[in-house]
Amino acid sequence: MQHVKIYQGNQIGGCVTIISAMHEGQIHRIMIDYGSSLPGSDNKKDFEYPWEDEPVDAVFFTHYHGDHVGRLMEIPPEVPLYMGSVARDAMINIQDSLGSSDRVPDCELHQREAEVLRDDNRVRTFNWNGTYYDHVEDIPGFVIEPYSVDHSAYDAYMFLVEAEDPDRKSGRYITVHTGDFRGHGRRGHKMIGLIDSYIRRFRKRYVDALVIEGTMMSRSKEKVMTEPQMQMKAARLFHKYRYAFLICSSTNVDSLASFYKAAQDAAFPSYRNLYVYNRYFKKQLELFTATAGSFADVYKFEHVVELDSNRNIEHTSASGQKYTQQQLMEIFGFLAVIKPVDYHEKYIDAFVEAYKSKKIKQMPVLIFSMWDGYLDPKHPAFQKEWYDFIKRQEEKGVKIEYLHTSGHATPKMLADVINAVAPTDALYPMHTDAFEEFKKSPYIKEQYKDLIQPPDQSGSARSSNTKI
Ligand SMILES: [Zn+2]
Repeated sequence: MQHVKIYQGNQIGGCVTIISAMHEGQIHRIMIDYGSSLPGSDNKKDFEYPWEDEPVDAVFFTHYHGDHVGRLMEIPPEVPLYMGSVARDAMINIQDSLGSSDRVPDCELHQREAEVLRDDNRVRTFNWNGTYYDHVEDIPGFVIEPYSVDHSAYDAYMFLVEAEDPDRKSGRYITVHTGDFRGHGRRGHKMIGLIDSYIRRFRKRYVDALVIEGTMMSRSKEKVMTEPQMQMKAARLFHKYRYAFLICSSTNVDSLASFYKAAQDAAFPSYRNLYVYNRYFKKQLELFTATAGSFADVYKFEHVVELDSNRNIEHTSASGQKYTQQQLMEIFGFLAVIKPVDYHEKYIDAFVEAYKSKKIKQMPVLIFSMWDGYLDPKHPAFQKEWYDFIKRQEEKGVKIEYLHTSGHATPKMLADVINAVAPTDALYPMHTDAFEEFKKSPYIKEQYKDLIQPPDQSGSARSSNTKI
């Protein structure tokens, strides 16, 4: 039987994996991720999964990015949803925030999604037992082993899926699904060791199929820094600039930690506040501080303040003096996260004005820490509003800096993972618009290149390479 089927694997985002097992004469299936296509991808309209003809027993989510979880509400209500517990809380924060925003058109849908995510009968989270995540054994025909991986989303997983197959000598078919991952974050260096010990059990266990993301295959010319390298560059910037605005995703905990720590470094022995644009952002940082922060100090965000949208509100200092937030920011310096949208422009303008009226001696800096494709007019994912926003600030004399590191593995790291997992039957590149590059990679061993399958199996069935 065909155990692995991938939909929309030939695009970055919105890829869906189905894994099948044969249990007591019946086919059982699990789905991994059900997200939306990203703007600019080929598939204008997402495919419709045949829920009735090919029902699934459960959906597993690798992490909370929209291109992996975005279609959650289309999943039939009887299907249980498996995910990381912090991912679940982060998703609840996102849906609560969208559900109560007057800028979002269909608030009720987000409120309902938050309700679904809070439902303990529907949502099951992975349990850390102190050494590893407990294997999921309550789906007929399957044993699923979740492993934490490094990605720009916190609480991201790779899965090892053992599917029953009585026609095979071993009685099962083992698939490893990487989800999105990288080797250059703070925890990325652990990945190959984890594969050797937990996945391969020091070569005592063999993997039949590997499903691997390939986002960076088309971006191989991109220079990739590690998070600590980016932190050092940011610290140099913050030594130079007391007033810094930052554009960065609210869920990219690693990069937020890099910028936050760099700001503290520049302000030492005092500290510098991290201002965020709304309550939701503050809640996400509190969540990461309570979870990731309990494992490593670098994820502890201690001096976080919500930006006052009304700049005339006065705050009373310890000595009883009254200051507006603008005055405090001018006196002590700051790092402030904003969105590149016109209603956040006032925060920058206040400092441009303060400089012009000689209240402060320096113009602010604006750091763009997101993928640069969004600012490339030639790229289908181009965000004109963001591009115009940044151009406008530049014209005002605000210094613009680009400082970003990708959430995805480099082509070299992808090859290291393929060679370490050492699949014996099939290799499925997905989450890629450069599938052909896997065949050309100088790092992937030839024997694994022969196992490469097309990145979308929705049309045709393939038969197993191995004789049973
Ligand atoms: Zn992702």
